Amino acid sequence: MLFTYDTELTLRAAAELVNSDRVDGEQLADLAALDVYLNSFGWTGRRDRDDAELRSVHRLRARLGDIWAATDDEEATVEKVNALLRETKASPWLTRHVENPDWHLHLGAPDDPLSQRMGAEIAMALADLIRGGELRRLKVCAAPDCTAVLTDLSRNRSKIFCDTGNCGNRQHVAAYRQRQREE
Ligand SMILES: [Zn+2]
Ligand SMILES: [Zn+2]
Repeated sequence: MLFTYDTELTLRAAAELVNSDRVDGEQLADLAALDVYLNSFGWTGRRDRDDAELRSVHRLRARLGDIWAATDDEEATVEKVNALLRETKASPWLTRHVENPDWHLHLGAPDDPLSQRMGAEIAMALADLIRGGELRRLKVCAAPDCTAVLTDLSRNRSKIFCDTGNCGNRQHVAAYRQRQREE
């Protein structure tokens, strides 16, 4: 394991959030879809279940997409992550609960708005990545027709395709066909 379990889980959740409108259209169009996403990553705490909450998650998604797009510039990324930590009033405390029985950090009070808590936890996970000198693990899929992002948690940072659209396989097939044409 490269990072703590909660950091890795949060980084995966962040990538999946960014990808939720990049692969097959809008996948977080309504509150039911948001529920499915949140449950799959064990997010807990306050839920307003209204349009404002959904829109605020969409805004967080766009903001995270901007962070992923510009990780080549480490200083700029640090500024963006610091801004997110500051604006979400990130304040770490240890907890464990049914959804995640290992001790882990939450970054806000359970009754803080959902997108604020999500933003704070994701910002903290990104801070972990940056502190470890591992910012390069945030990647955009290498398939030419895909804009999905990934958090490469492989040991040797060798992952280049996203998990969403079978891109790795498609690229292998394309390369194979290319070789056949050239023979
Ligand atoms: Zn938790
Ligand atoms: Zn892809």
